[in-house]
Amino acid sequence: MSTPIRRRPTRQVRVGDCIVGSDAPVVVQSMTNTDTADAEATALQVKELADAGSEVVRITVNSPEAAARVAEIHQRLDDLGCKVPLVGDFHFNGDRLLREYPDCARALAKYRINPGNVGRGAKGDDKFAFMIRTAIEYDKPVRIGVNWGSLDQSLATRLMDENSRSAHPLPPDAIMREALIVSALESADKAIELGLSPDKIILSCKVSHVQDLIAVYRDLGRRCDFPLHLGLTEAGMGSKGIVASTAALAVLLQEGIGDTIRISLTPQPGESRTKEIIVAQEILQTMGLRSFTPLVTACPGCGRTTSTFFQELADRIQTYLRDQMPVWRLQYPGVESLNVAVMGCVVNGPGESKLADIGISLPGTGEVPVAPVYVDGEKTVTLKGEHIAEEFKAIVDHYVAS
Ligand code: SF4
Repeated sequence: MSTPIRRRPTRQVRVGDCIVGSDAPVVVQSMTNTDTADAEATALQVKELADAGSEVVRITVNSPEAAARVAEIHQRLDDLGCKVPLVGDFHFNGDRLLREYPDCARALAKYRINPGNVGRGAKGDDKFAFMIRTAIEYDKPVRIGVNWGSLDQSLATRLMDENSRSAHPLPPDAIMREALIVSALESADKAIELGLSPDKIILSCKVSHVQDLIAVYRDLGRRCDFPLHLGLTEAGMGSKGIVASTAALAVLLQEGIGDTIRISLTPQPGESRTKEIIVAQEILQTMGLRSFTPLVTACPGCGRTTSTFFQELADRIQTYLRDQMPVWRLQYPGVESLNVAVMGCVVNGPGESKLADIGISLPGTGEVPVAPVYVDGEKTVTLKGEHIAEEFKAIVDHYVAS
């Protein structure tokens, strides 16, 4: 039996109906890539992401045209029966957009504020202060989201100057990490001074390198009790993005750090945005933090499996299980944690199949053409012939229903 992960104790922040922090489940979130000024396309993509499992969805609010459509997007989602909390991603001109479009300010469930490009100093503080006062007025939480690529340069310069006068100067990369953390913490202090409740603040300090992210979040986690939004920014495309994100997040989540996650994958042209949600869910599920959908254990195959039948069956079963979840989740509580094994031959097939709730060990090349099925560790039936896939699916259905 594995030891459960102990989450870092934090304040809890409500984002719409979603609770973030402490022992609340780690929240999966994503972000649209539509032009927010196109209300129809944005609402449809938000719905697609929410249906795939994104529990919070962020949309960019970068222009008057975008801000003017946020309330309509919210209404369209309501009409579609989609209640997912919408977060407005503001940069540079967030204060002006919130001031000029109060319907936008009201419709959003949270504001993301980037202290690095709202600006600092007298003028910048006014902008930041206006956004915080708007959050207070509309009773909204904020994420103070610092990003390596848009770090407040005056703060970085100040810390480098102080460091150069120190008797024990830190290396430049450590100063940059410190600047990210100080930017987040000073901004949070400022928001609280302005009257925002500490229970309305989530922090993030995103960077694009794994070791930097781990170092920054460990330090940030020690220095505050705000919930943390975790993600490797600009993680990249395909397997690189998935591997880098998983490597970084797994270390931090294992240490209890991270209350909401986003996997920032660059999609291929035309590729669905929902892949990053599946990756986020699978990270949390494989680490034992949450269960979303029954997962299929399958061997990689080898020279003992010269046909592709077992890979096809594993893929079909995984897709089938995922597709059933919107209905099964309502009908059969707990079905998310079902384990199914589809194995390629008798070497590891029976062993893995017995460990799963339901498992099948297919015949490898040269083996007797039969496929024993195990349910709750016991061999119940042996399938053979052309309809193994359909018969196995029926066994899975029966198990779930019973
Ligand atoms: Fe190869 Fe059999 Fe192991 Fe699968 S279970 S990888 S088919 S030896």
